[in-house]
Amino acid sequence: MHMRVYLNLMKQSALLLSVVIALTMSAFAQTPKELADLWEKYHIATKFPSDARHADLKIYLEKLRQMSIPINEVGKSHEGREIYQMQFGRGPLKIFMWSQMHGDEPTATSTLVDMFAFFQQNRDLAWVKEIEDKLTIRAVPMLNPDGAEVYKRHNAQNLDINRDALNLKSPEAQLLKRLRDEWQPAIGFNLHNQRELTTVGNAPRQAAISLLVVYGDAAKTPSDGHSRNERIASVMVRALNEFIPGHIGRYGDEWTPTAFGDNFSAWGTPVILVETGALYGKDEKFLVKMNFVAFITAIRSIVTGSERTQDPNLYINLPENGSGGLVSFVFRGAGIVYNDGSVKVGDISAVTQRRRASFLQSNVISGLGSIGKVRGLEEYDGSQFNVVQRLGQMATGKGAEFYFFKRDRAIDWTTLDVAQTKPDAVFSFGKWTVGDGKVPRR
Ligand SMILES: [Zn+2]
Repeated sequence: MHMRVYLNLMKQSALLLSVVIALTMSAFAQTPKELADLWEKYHIATKFPSDARHADLKIYLEKLRQMSIPINEVGKSHEGREIYQMQFGRGPLKIFMWSQMHGDEPTATSTLVDMFAFFQQNRDLAWVKEIEDKLTIRAVPMLNPDGAEVYKRHNAQNLDINRDALNLKSPEAQLLKRLRDEWQPAIGFNLHNQRELTTVGNAPRQAAISLLVVYGDAAKTPSDGHSRNERIASVMVRALNEFIPGHIGRYGDEWTPTAFGDNFSAWGTPVILVETGALYGKDEKFLVKMNFVAFITAIRSIVTGSERTQDPNLYINLPENGSGGLVSFVFRGAGIVYNDGSVKVGDISAVTQRRRASFLQSNVISGLGSIGKVRGLEEYDGSQFNVVQRLGQMATGKGAEFYFFKRDRAIDWTTLDVAQTKPDAVFSFGKWTVGDGKVPRR
């Protein structure tokens, strides 16, 4: 063989080898960061989860159907909305996931849709094929479509479905129990949202995601399934730690005799509860992505068996959820103008109400005057200003809607007319609508 041809061949085969290695790596070693990138590329749930109603879910599911995901109508809500179950894989190990049994807890509904879309479009990847061969995953996105429609916790009968596991007065609870009893899955994932101001332990730090491995009885009797789920939860914590370290909590594990997670575990399907909170500066879609990374990492660890060598203490040692005195907004040291015209220097705290993303943000005064040790996600130095409540009542429970006036201005508060006496800054619906930046951040 001519020497130069030979060298070229050598180069080519070396190149080929490196390509093969690269492909193999990407097929078998999906890092959490790579999974996050894959979500960016493949997700199909386009709305903010809190804005997605039953009609939007049907659009997402139609897309999944067109990708040949089996989707069945398995029941109807009290008001007659269809409840669906989707399936991926044909393996012997059964995993069951359900979301939004509380209507205003929507994050994981989008994640389930996105996860199924990703799996189905990537069946040629060796590790996805392995999931398909070894597992059967069934998921019910939006178990409570009536609650989702009006963005409330309860169903249309005003029942908390998650307190109806034994009474079974709601059609949604009856359905959930039937789907479990008929199929007898080995692992359950119960997918919820917690309050946006839930903290990790007593630190004023948001719990963006909290996990709970649910026991099957009040005595917390150990079991193989429970130990396995502790290891799986630890795998999820390890993956999430690459994005949101310090913002992962452990949900309180008191036995709730009427809740589904507890009863699924008692009935033979040990449950991992996932509660998505919020993270300052990040929107709902970021949390959809975090759920995507956590779910797929968990599923992978089950398929590969890597969960068996995971130290469960990563989950066990998570700080428990707390209410670490966190509020949405704090205005420190302001001259608070009360309704009788008196002015007293103090702090104001406010809390954002849970609303759909497309709705105007609503904030409510949670503390006035001496507010103790609470910390705000946003804190302002009000010491140069007097503050008037825009709508009339400076009192806790009223809207956090404020006019800010420089303190050196002489103003008669009893005859205040803002058309004449223009405020220096206006805080409304959680934003500075006038004079942005005038009241300094602390
Ligand atoms: Zn819930």
